[in-house]
Amino acid sequence: MPQQFIFDCPECDTVVTVGTEIRTEILEHGCVLCETAVSADAFSQPEKHQRR
Ligand SMILES: [Zn+2]
Repeated sequence: MPQQFIFDCPECDTVVTVGTEIRTEILEHGCVLCETAVSADAFSQPEKHQRR
């Protein structure tokens, strides 16, 4: 089962579920939408993701 992460962009509030490869792409190139550089902090794992 592939690892999945929830990417929550701190800049444009985009929230998307991505796999490991896309996570790496985003860490290297920034948010897919606004191209803001993000750190690993912008990712969480689905089972640990808590909605308020
Ligand atoms: Zn963004």
